[in-house]
Amino acid sequence: MICLDVSLNGERLTRAGLRRGVVTVIVDQLPPGAPSFTVGGMDTARSRNHEYVHWLQRKKLKCGHEMSVRIVEASRAHKPMQRERPVLREGHRTEGTFAECSFCGRDRPHKLPSGATGGILGVSTFICRSCSCVAQQMKEQKASQALHLQRVDRAQCSFCQQTRRGLIGGVVGRVCSACIRKIVETM
Ligand SMILES: [Zn+2]
Ligand SMILES: [Zn+2]
Repeated sequence: MICLDVSLNGERLTRAGLRRGVVTVIVDQLPPGAPSFTVGGMDTARSRNHEYVHWLQRKKLKCGHEMSVRIVEASRAHKPMQRERPVLREGHRTEGTFAECSFCGRDRPHKLPSGATGGILGVSTFICRSCSCVAQQMKEQKASQALHLQRVDRAQCSFCQQTRRGLIGGVVGRVCSACIRKIVETM
């Protein structure tokens, strides 16, 4: 199979490859001034539902760093560090797309019958409309807990992937103040 050997400053970090699916090497500046790269993809061979895979996630880059990607033919790739099932499901319960909210754990519509957004989808996170509202209220009232949500001192935000302080956490999702503001604005 064709694999991607990803090296940083001459040192090979991983050999990424899939029998079926998509493999990506993404270099980003998110936020500006903090470049990083991610080696990941989508595996469509293992299950009926595809899975997101990561070999390296948001590894930091500095000025002068040099990355290279060599295309190689190999019998096998390195095992991905992480596998994630996407949260969106088609045609569940009724017509339309539903997602399991990463904050309350309930199945929520991605779109409401009116056409309005039912929630916001991250890479492998979904926050429903009601959790967004509760999170926004918690933020405004500086509450430590509200319903099933609670404040998390320091963690990685499930939306922007940045490690932040004072996040709001649910079942598996974590959202930072900046992201919850943007999410509520979008709805
Ligand atoms: Zn929810
Ligand atoms: Zn965030």
